[in-house]
Amino acid sequence: MKILVADDDPVSLRMIERMLQHIGYEVITADNGRKAADILSTAGGPRLSLIDWMMPQLDGPDLCREVRDRNDDLYTYILLLTAKQSREDVVIGLKAGADDYLTKPFHPAELEARLNTGRRILQLEDKLVEAREEMRLKATHDGLTSLWNRAAILTLLRSGLSRSIRDRSAVSLLLCDIDHFKRINDTHGHLVGDEVLQVVSDRLLDAVRTYDAVGRYGGEEFLIVLTGCVDDDLRNRAEQVRKAISSFPIPTSSGPIFASMSVGAITIENWETALPIELFLKQADNALYQAKAAGRDKVVYANYQLAV
Ligand code: GH3
Ligand code: MG
Ligand code: MG
Repeated sequence: MKILVADDDPVSLRMIERMLQHIGYEVITADNGRKAADILSTAGGPRLSLIDWMMPQLDGPDLCREVRDRNDDLYTYILLLTAKQSREDVVIGLKAGADDYLTKPFHPAELEARLNTGRRILQLEDKLVEAREEMRLKATHDGLTSLWNRAAILTLLRSGLSRSIRDRSAVSLLLCDIDHFKRINDTHGHLVGDEVLQVVSDRLLDAVRTYDAVGRYGGEEFLIVLTGCVDDDLRNRAEQVRKAISSFPIPTSSGPIFASMSVGAITIENWETALPIELFLKQADNALYQAKAAGRDKVVYANYQLAV
């Protein structure tokens, strides 16, 4: 683990550096408070620190205040090293934002033990951050396909539409539904159906640009939100999406399966007021219905436009 040691006395700095290296720390040193504050503010820098109280430019308590005022995403654990030991001084240090203090001269075993406390706190924070990220991912992504889930893709659509009002740009939607998916389930079983959904999802992601959003809208329905993709670009993109499914059989544990997908497409542009997204989704759904009625494995465009 990385640790910052800040001390203006070179002999003391070197001694502590050696001691900490000996017990496995990756030591970064600073000979004044300003340098120490800068090192602690760099991304990926040390989060554990041993800071001398008396230093030129910025002393220990000032450094603590600066770090705490920054309110970084990740916590910096500060162990203040001090020759002072009056109760008032200790209170000043802790109030400034130090987590703990150690008076000089200190015993190496005590330093190690106090740093271990800091490590435990930082490790606890790491676990909490990891759990939060996992929850965030689960809340916005579909478990089977890892695509955006329905709520998330609708949120992305809403924000895409708001942006398009500001930029006077267009948002296009592709509402996609696998053809006769029930037959695949009935013939090969639900688990193989799941495998098909996973491969279809991967192919949809490959068929769009990195800045387009692909979401699982329902069971075997997908919603793709494309920004700045209209007319011929949209037609080409929609064809690419459709062919991504029907051009090659889908490898599954039950052997290759031929599948296809129908697509309802709509472009939303030239509009001035915020309209509910349900209106556009309904239009896309109507187009999808027509694609099914026309024999499936087709793209139908809703010729919806709001007059300005
Ligand atoms: P169409 O061409 O008209 O779309 O016919 P379809 O069979 O695809 O449509 P239908 O709506 O009749 O059937 C969809 C099926 O998708 C029914 C449902 O059991 C299945 N399904 C929904 N979610 C999942 C899932 O997560 N896994 C699997 N394996 N099947 C699912
Ligand atoms: Mg369906
Ligand atoms: Mg279907």
